[in-house]
Amino acid sequence: MAVLVDVALPVPLFRTFTYEVNGDAAHPVGPGSRVVVPFRQRREIGIVVGEGKPRLGVSPKRVLEVPDATPAIGEPLLALCRWMAEYYVTPLGVALRSALPAALSGAASPAPPVKTRRVVVLARELPTLLRRERIFARAPQQRTLFELLETLGGRATVEHLLEQLQFSPSVLKGLVARGLAIVESEVVARDPFASRPAPPPPAYAPTPAQRAAIDALKGASPGETFLLHGITGSGKTLVYIELLRHVVDDRGRSAIVLVPEIALTPQTVDRFRAVFGDRIAVLHSSLSDGERYDAWLALQRGDKRIAVGARSAVFAPLPDLGAIVVDEEHEGSYKQGEAPRYHARELAIVRARHEGAVVVLGSATPSLESWANAHAGKYQLLNLPERVGGGRLPAVEAIDLRGARTPPPAPGAAPDPDTLFRSVISEPVHRALVERLGRGEQSILLLNRRGYAAFIQCPTCGDVVTCPNCSISLTYHRTPERLICHYCHHTEELRSKCRRCGGTVLRQRGLGTQQVERLLAERFPSARIARMDVDTTSGKWAHTEILDRVGRGDVDVLLGTQMIAKGLDFPNVTLVAVVDADVGINLPDFRASERCFQLLSQVAGRAGRGPKGGQVFIQTRVPTHHAVRCALTHDYRTFVREEFDGRVKPPYPPNVRIANVGFSGTTEDATARLASRCSAWLHALVAKVESPVTIVGPAPSPVERIKNRWRWHLLLKSEQPRDLTRVLRYLAERFEVPKGASLRLTIDRDPVSLL
Ligand code: ADP
Ligand code: ZN
Repeated sequence: MAVLVDVALPVPLFRTFTYEVNGDAAHPVGPGSRVVVPFRQRREIGIVVGEGKPRLGVSPKRVLEVPDATPAIGEPLLALCRWMAEYYVTPLGVALRSALPAALSGAASPAPPVKTRRVVVLARELPTLLRRERIFARAPQQRTLFELLETLGGRATVEHLLEQLQFSPSVLKGLVARGLAIVESEVVARDPFASRPAPPPPAYAPTPAQRAAIDALKGASPGETFLLHGITGSGKTLVYIELLRHVVDDRGRSAIVLVPEIALTPQTVDRFRAVFGDRIAVLHSSLSDGERYDAWLALQRGDKRIAVGARSAVFAPLPDLGAIVVDEEHEGSYKQGEAPRYHARELAIVRARHEGAVVVLGSATPSLESWANAHAGKYQLLNLPERVGGGRLPAVEAIDLRGARTPPPAPGAAPDPDTLFRSVISEPVHRALVERLGRGEQSILLLNRRGYAAFIQCPTCGDVVTCPNCSISLTYHRTPERLICHYCHHTEELRSKCRRCGGTVLRQRGLGTQQVERLLAERFPSARIARMDVDTTSGKWAHTEILDRVGRGDVDVLLGTQMIAKGLDFPNVTLVAVVDADVGINLPDFRASERCFQLLSQVAGRAGRGPKGGQVFIQTRVPTHHAVRCALTHDYRTFVREEFDGRVKPPYPPNVRIANVGFSGTTEDATARLASRCSAWLHALVAKVESPVTIVGPAPSPVERIKNRWRWHLLLKSEQPRDLTRVLRYLAERFEVPKGASLRLTIDRDPVSLL
């Protein structure tokens, strides 16, 4: 008998579609089932979200395939996706697609291949010696193979027998032909972590502060959210591990651990693997689609009980979820940059509430939003105010770069290397580096800008070389030598002349990691220097390799961008220096100071994690800026208070809820017109429905053009999330974006960046 189903498709339309399923479909269908359906002359994979309703005079199209025996999305995840679609104003089908591994969203091969291997299994026993001698009388090799299989427990892979043990295929064929063995295929989970050795599990007892946090978490009521504010090195990971032991070992439930960028945190991942071994699925960013799918299946089957991964791991298909850990909850990478523009921290909280799990948000520098929620009593605050093992936070000293300006070199003359070095690395940092190298201790240098020089400028007319596609300057890279746009990857040769005035002495301005690396290498020729930034970490496991080298003591100085600020725990690092703290501090974004404070605090926290203590230097031209000032004294609370006050007038989160409505198009004119038309439309709407939502803008975005698209935006603000949802929903469904100039409108709710 045919039934009607309501199907959500990954298309930019705020509606679902009715299809008909035949009685002869391969598998039963229900909410969460994947179906292959015809849609506008193509095949699409959709998700059944309910029963379909017949419509008069319309005969629904047929579902083409039902690829899975059981629904790909269970009820709890379906509920989460409904919430996500509603809150982030995204079509349900688009939301659902982001909750599934990529391998399950290709309509061309709806049932993704699993990796199999061929194994030989003994099919008969030969209990008596007599029979053995008779059967194998003229086949001694078959006998050897048969008996070997017996000692291997009656089972071995074909590959092992033929390749490692060098049996000939004909011997194996012989055994099979005589019915003594069979060859079958076996599904293998592709787990690239299987070969990485796990460290031994921790052998220490929790400190009293850790104990208190662990006890509070164990006693949590279902759906409760905790904010674990623990300074760097206070042992937050152990708290997470003890919670997981309780949830997974004692209660037999499952858990998710979210980390900001998994490639950057191999140490944290290793600590979980040390305790939970192969019950963990690590959803690493460098997994292939197939490997990711294997992990997903293992989680769904319950073979793996803990998922560790970046933001999309919040959708791990774990049954009976007991806990979600969000480590470094303040990190911007938890926000997805494309639709659905969800924040994994918010989804974690919503999912946990639906499924009766506990959430822990951990950070040394919690986001202002989470801090405000903890103070409003929405989250329970847990504190780890001290470093474990009596360690102390390192002393942090600011080095004021104002006045330390080097005189510009004489025209035509190259700056002498010594002057250049001293303009980049101040005397105190230099001395401290020399000391560390002498004592065999390690140092970390942070400069949050990759490349060699920030930009190239003509000293005659002041012209800066910019990207032809984006409104930003090109960064000078030295190895290989070229100019690169960090937004669109546009690359060009270094110019020999200024395009504007024809001047021939183009100057490099501003520092990048490549230049600092070179200056260090010249100054300390025998030091082992490792550079870690986007340019040195393109390989799959490049991050892990660099960090493993640091861990083994094969690196004296680790230099890098914000990549090196997170989660690293190397006790032999006794010096941290920030080469230029001011990168990013003045960006036209309300979170610029917060991000700067977090980065400085996090990187400072890498120093002095061992008994030798540590020292931190921050080179800056704005030593009195509250982000720098509070980082010097490790004073999170003062920073938050001042930052919070700065967001009252005009109001910014957490004092108000905002959404960023973006407009882009291929001409400046059409984009600007779309922005003002939309703004007028919104003003009329808000007036008509008497909504308390306020509209700020429109204005050109801070980066006016990216990849040849002009960008404008406006902000919607409101006290109540509900009011914002209503207006945004109206906008998404009713406002018409004209054709032409490939105009686009995007809605980014709770944006982490306004650039
Ligand atoms: P955080 O994430 O808070 O910065 P970590 O979890 O990385 O801190 O812990 C810092 C270091 O302290 C790690 O090397 C960890 O093994 C160690 N550690 C954690 N808890 C204890 C404890 N109770 N006793 C001794 N060492 C501990
Ligand atoms: Zn560009």
